[in-house]
This record gives sequence, C-alpha cells and structure tokens, in this order.
Amino acid sequence: MERVVIVGAGTFGASLAWWLAGRGDEVVLVDQFEPGDRRATSGGETRLIRSAHGADPDYAGMARRARTLWKQLEGESGVELLQETGVSWFAHGEDGWEAESERTLKALDIPTERWSVEEASRRFTSFDGSDLAWVLHEPEAGVLRAQKSIRTLVAQAQARGAQLVQGRAIPEGEYAVVNGAALEGDRVVWSCGPWLRQLFPALVQLKVTLQELFFYDGGAGWRNAPAWVDYDRATYGTPDIDEGGVKIAWDHEGPPIEPDADLPPATEETETLARGYMAARFPGLAQAPLVGSRTCRYELTVDSHFIVAPHPEHPSVWLVGGGSGHGFKHGPALAERIAGAWSGKAELPAHFALGERAKGTSFRSAGSNF
Ligand SMILES: Cc1cc2nc3c(=O)[nH]c(=O)nc-3n(C[C@H](O)[C@H](O)[C@H](O)COP(=O)(O)OP(=O)(O)OC[C@H]3O[C@@H](n4cnc5c(N)ncnc54)[C@H](O)[C@@H]3O)c2cc1C
Repeated sequence: MERVVIVGAGTFGASLAWWLAGRGDEVVLVDQFEPGDRRATSGGETRLIRSAHGADPDYAGMARRARTLWKQLEGESGVELLQETGVSWFAHGEDGWEAESERTLKALDIPTERWSVEEASRRFTSFDGSDLAWVLHEPEAGVLRAQKSIRTLVAQAQARGAQLVQGRAIPEGEYAVVNGAALEGDRVVWSCGPWLRQLFPALVQLKVTLQELFFYDGGAGWRNAPAWVDYDRATYGTPDIDEGGVKIAWDHEGPPIEPDADLPPATEETETLARGYMAARFPGLAQAPLVGSRTCRYELTVDSHFIVAPHPEHPSVWLVGGGSGHGFKHGPALAERIAGAWSGKAELPAHFALGERAKGTSFRSAGSNF
C-alpha cells in the first residue's frame, strides 16, 4: 500500500484517486475548488466519449476501456453518467480521419457503422450532408455528464477511503504545501489542468485557450439524435441532454487566457459562426432560440498527447495533464494505466513524457484548426 497525495480533482486526478483508493492505497485528494467547479477544465454539463482517434490505436483502446470503467462507476454509485447517444463523424472524403478511424476501430473490434449521407439524414430531424462523402457512426459512443461524473468519482473515491482536502497547493520539492501544511506521500501527483504550466514553468509547455459553447432549443426531435463531430470543420455538438438544449461547440482554437482569469461570457461573433454552421448542416435549427452559452479553458500540448511523467529531480513527484481538449473521457482508463505503470505491470507511452514535442495529429474534434 502506498500513500498518494493528488493535487487536482478534475477527471485525471479524481479518476486516479478513485482507482488507487480502490486498490487499497491511502489517498489524499486536494483541490482549490469544490469538485466539478466550472473553472476547472472538467466542469460544465457534458463531454463526448468516443473511441475514434484516426489511425491511433492507443487512444482508441484507452477510450474503449474508459467506457467500461465509467459504466463500472455508474454501477457502483447508482448515478447515470453516460448517455449512449452514438457519435456520428461527418466525412468530407473517402480518405482521412474518418476512414483511418474506421480501420482502427474495426481492428480493435469496436463497433462502427458506415452510413451513406441519405442514411445520416434519416437519423437527424434536419440534415444537409450535400458536402459530405459518408458518415462514420460509433453506436456505443455518447455523452458523459461532466460535472456529475467528477462529483461521482470524488464521492466514490471517498467511499473507498480517500480523504478530500480543500486548499490551494504549492509544490516544494517533493511536498505539496496546502493550507500551511507540507503533505508528503510515497507519490505526490500534480494533476492541475490549466494550472500545471504555472506550477512547473520550466517543465511544462501548455497553451491555455478560451473556448465557447452554445445551447439551442431544438424541440423534442433533438432529444434522441446522435452526438456528432465535423472534424474537418472543427465543430461538434450533442443532442439535447437533460433539457439543457442542443449543444454546438466551435472547436477552433480560441484566444489565450490565464488559468486564474475570470471566464468571460461567450461572444456574439462566435455565436454567429456557430449558427452559420448549424443553418448549413441542420437547417431546421437555423432559427432555434439560443437558451444558453458558456466559456471554458483548454490546456493544449503542441502534439495533443497527454502529459504523464515523473519530475526529473523528484522521482516521487508526478505531473499529469495536457488534456488538450480530449482528455475527459479517458480519466478512469488513464488512472488504471498510471497505477499499472507504478506497479511495474505496464509502461506508459513515450509520448506522455516531458520535454520538447513536435506538432502532431489533433486528437480533439478539430482537424482543420490545429
Ligand atoms: C469546452 C470543453 C469541451 C471539451 N470536450 C471534450 C469532450 O467532448 N471529450 C473529452 O474527452 N474531453 C473534452 N474536453 C477536454 C477535457 O475536459 C479535459 O481534457 C479534461 O477535463 C482535463 O482534466 P484535468 O483533470 O487535467 O484538468 P481540470 O479539470 O482542470 O482539473 C484540474 C484541477 O486542479 C485543481 N488545481 C489546479 N491547481 C491547483 C492547486 N495549486 N491547488 C489545488 N488545486 C489545484 C483545479 O481546481 C482543478 O479542479 C473538453 C474541454 C472543454 C473545456
């Protein structure tokens, strides 16, 4: 049994706390906010969970494993976290992200369907696919209730014996200093989302950006539609989940923002762009009333690979982050991998390491703006 201090209760830290407490470790989970706070990257209403990651089998397999673990958490807690809406990927050509994803998922035995544009237009209440070649559908993908998932992870970690401490931590060598006390552990993990860069500026390169989301009243027909991604147009959305409205996210990279800056309101300019996309793709939504908007932060690595690595001077200290707009779904499966690496059962991929990185594939839902 190890004693592990985890600073940061977003999807990465809360999942790790849940997983380690489940295997009998003594876990202290620290966060400056209440779990699920909107200022954390894991806050807010919903996140997509899908296995398609282009030609990359590692993230595809990890997302699939995460789906199993989210369901395990649902069973353990009795809280409904995942809505299996399916996720439809709009393919603009025969080759590209969707075709690579289809090949990879088939090789991993992850269910996929290949829809013609006509078939897709039967699945949405209103759909114009005249610019599309075909649609890749993942029937077992869907939407996670984000804030509820974080609160459930933390509650179940506590039920397994983890201790939750509220306070802002400062790294001091191998310790985490919280509310004046130096916390020590066999391992100290800093899973601090957008704040990771300012805590370890010499080690972590992250671009922190401001992103915008819009919610529309689409009517009853949008309660059972699939979630969707237009990777080449850097836009994605969800059906109406829990009567919060049809979500559309303009996934182009937003302007820089500091982790501690107040989140400003969404802008009319981006709403016009989102509505323009909607009018072209889902004409029935062109005049749908806007019922809400939100902003949030991305913490982007240059190659969109996560960061999971020991501190070079303090091997018991681990840095975990760089979710890069696609980290939420992976939380529990990444936790399992980290725990496996610590017990020598598995190795973490080299691309999780600290250090210089070159630009790579975009694993978030934005192929055209990366
Ligand atoms: C709008 C939006 C849409 C997204 N869509 C998707 C999606 O569809 N699918 C998907 O898989 N991913 C998606 N993502 C990405 C995903 O949400 C993130 O990759 C993931 O939530 C990152 O989690 P994290 O635990 O690393 O960081 P965070 O959730 O930010 O958690 C870090 C925590 O650390 C705490 N903390 C920081 N510093 C300190 C300190 N010094 N002391 C104490 N506590 C501290 C913070 O308070 C915070 O709670 C999206 C992100 C956004 C913003």
